[in-house]
Amino acid sequence: MMKKSKSFIIFLFLIASLGIMACQTEREQAAVKEVLFFTDEIEPVIEVEAEPFNLKQVRLLEGPFKEAMERDARYLKGLEPDRLLHNFRVNAGLPSAAEPLGGWEKPDVELRGHTVGHFLSACALMYASTGDEELKTKADRIVVELAKCQNALGPSGYLSAFPEEFIDRVEARERVWAPYYTLHKILAGLLDMYIHCGNGQALDVAGKMAACVKMRSDRLDQEHMQRMLDKTEQGGMNDVLSNLYAATGKTEYFELARRFDQKSYTEPLANYRDELKGLHVNSFIPNMIGTAREFELTGDPVLHRIATFFWDQVIRARSYATGGTSNDEAWRTEPYKMASELGPYSHESCCTYNMLKLTRHLFSWSADCRYADYYERALINGILPTQNPEDGMMMYYVPMASGLFKTFMTPRNSFWCCTGTGIENHAKYGDSIYFHHDDSLYVNLFLASELTWGEKGVRIRQETKFPEHEKTSLFLNVNRPVELALYIRIPYWVGKQGYVEINGLKLETYSSPGSFLRLERKWKNGDRIDVYLPMKLHLHPMPDDPNLAAIMYGPLVLAGQLGAVELPREEVYGKYGPTADPAAVPYLSPPSDELDSWIKPVDGEPLTFRTEGAGNPEDVILVPFYKLFGQRYAIYWEFRQDSE
Ligand SMILES: [Zn+2]
Repeated sequence: MMKKSKSFIIFLFLIASLGIMACQTEREQAAVKEVLFFTDEIEPVIEVEAEPFNLKQVRLLEGPFKEAMERDARYLKGLEPDRLLHNFRVNAGLPSAAEPLGGWEKPDVELRGHTVGHFLSACALMYASTGDEELKTKADRIVVELAKCQNALGPSGYLSAFPEEFIDRVEARERVWAPYYTLHKILAGLLDMYIHCGNGQALDVAGKMAACVKMRSDRLDQEHMQRMLDKTEQGGMNDVLSNLYAATGKTEYFELARRFDQKSYTEPLANYRDELKGLHVNSFIPNMIGTAREFELTGDPVLHRIATFFWDQVIRARSYATGGTSNDEAWRTEPYKMASELGPYSHESCCTYNMLKLTRHLFSWSADCRYADYYERALINGILPTQNPEDGMMMYYVPMASGLFKTFMTPRNSFWCCTGTGIENHAKYGDSIYFHHDDSLYVNLFLASELTWGEKGVRIRQETKFPEHEKTSLFLNVNRPVELALYIRIPYWVGKQGYVEINGLKLETYSSPGSFLRLERKWKNGDRIDVYLPMKLHLHPMPDDPNLAAIMYGPLVLAGQLGAVELPREEVYGKYGPTADPAAVPYLSPPSDELDSWIKPVDGEPLTFRTEGAGNPEDVILVPFYKLFGQRYAIYWEFRQDSE
């Protein structure tokens, strides 16, 4: 795993060639490569099994994901730069007449400024995903203004929307809300502007900020640094500083990144001990992403073990059917104790955003199908359902308690953690559909899209109405016949009658659920592959209570419709989660263990089911969670027989 391979270096050279083809400026050439883990500045020390494609190489085609992306773009275009910048300007002593934004961007909220970082990331991702110049230009201008604020704040490189005194407080262990969490978001936004938009000024501003962080960190001994990080929401300082190192080759950034590793948290994980109880979830996962990134840059097997064991524990022992995790911001129980964790504030959506990022790294190292299976489940049940198709507003908590309903942000007064990750979520659906390695191409997600793999002279168009249709079709457009191994994900949930056709001819072979089907041949222009992915009903029980389970159809969490939400708008908008009482929820007494015998499809309504003779006091209609809006719902059902 740690040896340098010649083919890998040649492979990187090919990526470099691709960058030159795809981009206009020298800065862009450098930036494009960084997103693929390494740059010319540093030598790779691990071999990966599957490289992600650059977001610029993938375009979404019509479907629910593209629609969500377009709603997100409209929201981003509507946000006023002067309002976003207000607190930065005030903090730097520069004039600002703008009306401050609300939520955690209010001028007296200590976390102010985090949204600007997310906004830069979202615009950069959206530009990479769509080529939309309007958002790039808007974000470029914000970088110019941030640079002015940084200059006005003095020579140290400090840049934020709050005074530097907040950092004094965190160093002194005095009460303050998470200044490093916010600095991480701003640094990440600037770096995304460099990576995806070739904005060199953004890299300069980020470098100066990092110099300031280094100056402060250098004054603290290791023990003090660890004390400062203990129970502090620092987010992914180790991640963003590692990325800054990868982008520049400056080892001081990487040394600084390592100082933000929290030893008291990582040592148990390195020894296969889950001591996650009590930790703050949405700031801890980014630190694990940083650990994954540090593994990529060092090859240290301990870091590999920490990141993979952590992932396993969160997915196996601490997640809901939706792929979400956390309850009221934290992990509150010992592992595998989830039945008590169904509340109005369970499954915080920014945690899913971060788990997907971590999963992307882990899939790259191993090309293990279970990472891709999780990615799909969390994307379709934990990300897509969190944006309201009516108005593009997004969710904070995703209530797992039955009888509740979805609540949403408001356009200008709800700038929370999940609002920030939310605007990024819907800008990067193209991110993990396809991966590649040497002459191999991985198709991980069944999502209507077109991939341009210029280096191979290959274009692949994936046409699908998945999940409404239980199949996907791949059309190859190649300059000349090309030897390629296509790896098609055969998901863990697939039913027995799955098969594949190449140019209309059914193949003898398929693959076991939860693995990749390898199709290797010399592909010709116009070749077509149809993949049939029959779904089946299955249960996703709680690990500590087999009588408490979610109902799934293929990768889809089905939610029971419990009646339209008859609540004032104030109950639904501007709330982290619902505060109204839950409605009464039927329990299920199935007449048979065969789910098909009592969960029946509703004619003419795709992916809609009705229980028959199982609901008490009445049966329920089940629809995919991503389609359920304006209703109270239940995801987890109590299963019991009347005699019990
Ligand atoms: Zn959040």
